Amino acid sequence: MNEESREPFKRLFFALDCAPAQRKAIAQWRGALQLRSGRPVPAENFHLTLKFLGSVDTARIADICDAAASVRTSAERLTVVLDRLDVWRRAGALVLAPQQAPPALLRLVYDLEQAMLPFGLEDAPREFRPHLTLARDYRAPVPESVEPPEFFLRADRFALFESHKGRYRALAEWPLGSQ
Ligand code: ATP
Ligand code: MG
Repeated sequence: MNEESREPFKRLFFALDCAPAQRKAIAQWRGALQLRSGRPVPAENFHLTLKFLGSVDTARIADICDAAASVRTSAERLTVVLDRLDVWRRAGALVLAPQQAPPALLRLVYDLEQAMLPFGLEDAPREFRPHLTLARDYRAPVPESVEPPEFFLRADRFALFESHKGRYRALAEWPLGSQ
C-alpha cells in the first residue's frame, strides 16, 4: 500500500472537467486580460464544481460512488456557456460564469445533493452558483476584456475529484446522457 492510500481522509468534490483544448483557449483568453491582481489558477485545474464534499473518510468513498452512479440515470449530456466574467469580492475570486445556468446542470446538481444527503457531509450547504475560477486572491475591479468570453463547456460526464496539495485527481467518473 502506498503512502497516499493510507490517508484516512480525502478532500473530495464533484465537478465537470474542462477539455484540454478548452483549458488552453481559456488560459489564452485570460492571458489577454493582463491581470494585475490575484494568483492565476493553473489551466490544468480549470473545472466547474457541482458539489463540494470536504473531508471524507476513505472508507465511505465506495458508497459515495454507488450513490453518485444512481444520479446519472436521469442526467443528460449538457453544455454550459461561460459568457460572463465576474469578480466575487468576498471570496476574492475572478470567475467565468454562465449568464444562464442550463436546467440540465441545475437538475444534475440537485440530484447529486439529494444523493449525498444520507452521508451528512455538509453543515451549511451553499447556494449553487456555477463558475470556473480563473484567479484567486483577486482584489481589483472586473478587468476589461477585449474579446467578450463565450466558452462552451460541453460535458458528457461528471467526476469525483480528490483535492490534494493544490492538485486534483479524478477518482471516478460517470457518463451523462448515455441512457
Ligand atoms: P486551495 O484551497 O488549495 O487554494 P482549491 O480551492 O482549488 O485550492 P479546494 O479548496 O480543495 O481546492 O476546493 C476544490 C473545489 O471545491 C474548488 O472548486 C473550490 O471552489 C470548491 N470548494 C472548496 N471549499 C468549498 C466550500 N466550503 N463550499 C463549496 N465549495 C467549495
Ligand atoms: Mg479552496
